Amino acid sequence: MPTETVYGLAADAANARAVAAVYEAKGRPAFNPLIAHVADLAMARRIARFDSRAEALAARFWPGPLTLVLPVLDSAAVCDLARAGLDTVAVRAPAHPIAHALIAALGRPIVAPSANRSGRPSPTTFADAVEETGASAAVALDGGSCAIGLESTVVALLDMPRLLRPGAVTRAELEAVVGPLSEAEADAKRSPGRLARHYAPNAPMRLDADTPRPGEAWLSFGPAGSGPWNLSPAGDLAEAAVKLFAYLRAADRSGPTAIAVAPIPSEGLGEAINDRLRRAAGFVG
Ligand code: AMP
Ligand code: MG
Repeated sequence: MPTETVYGLAADAANARAVAAVYEAKGRPAFNPLIAHVADLAMARRIARFDSRAEALAARFWPGPLTLVLPVLDSAAVCDLARAGLDTVAVRAPAHPIAHALIAALGRPIVAPSANRSGRPSPTTFADAVEETGASAAVALDGGSCAIGLESTVVALLDMPRLLRPGAVTRAELEAVVGPLSEAEADAKRSPGRLARHYAPNAPMRLDADTPRPGEAWLSFGPAGSGPWNLSPAGDLAEAAVKLFAYLRAADRSGPTAIAVAPIPSEGLGEAINDRLRRAAGFVG
């Protein structure tokens, strides 16, 4: 199903067989939990315990690209497998009308990890989603290109607010609501899924490159950029986020010796873009 962030491989979160099929289709390790997508705050409150910080973040950013990790309720319609056995649940209300309609029609949460095979770049177009995992899906819904193009921001509200994954909602936007964010705990049990090589193309990546070398594909950025894969000639980070995964895939398909990427500013959305690039390059431990 399309969402405003990336295409998701969707399943009824309460149905362990369906959820197992999602892990299988993605080749995703079962210790990496899935996000439960809800139609609205009322559905979210039926699966997770909201405190005042969670209420404030949901009021400000939902529906939209923010995922909250909260204590799970015993009665939640999210199976153990979807939570990787944790006593917490990640929950998000997507803004995309098709995703919203599907969840509302089911009447309970839908898990929808990115529709790529595990470790590969997320699909942000219908064609890329079908290429990655279409063969495993009973139905594929075409919602056009994703408006944001980067995965949701993930924030845990278990003790202090922690940023588990930078994303489309920026650090500054979050801190305006809940104050300073702590970093994710090193404890892999509390912050699973922070894998080093992730979102990766087949070709090796060379980041912060000034110019491409012979044989390299070139992802440029800004007015001085060149070639078919300029992430944003205007130097606009939102435009670069939309194009990032599609251009990574296109550059990869050209069979280069490496994919060279121009420096991307690190403020605002740039934090999430640089996070994905470092993981695509395998630089994050
Ligand atoms: P995605 O890969 O887009 O499905 O996002 C799922 C990510 O959200 C995981 O890789 C984790 O980093 C995070 N996540 C999901 N559930 C939890 C949880 N219960 N506790 C901590 N992080 C979680
Ligand atoms: Mg993913």
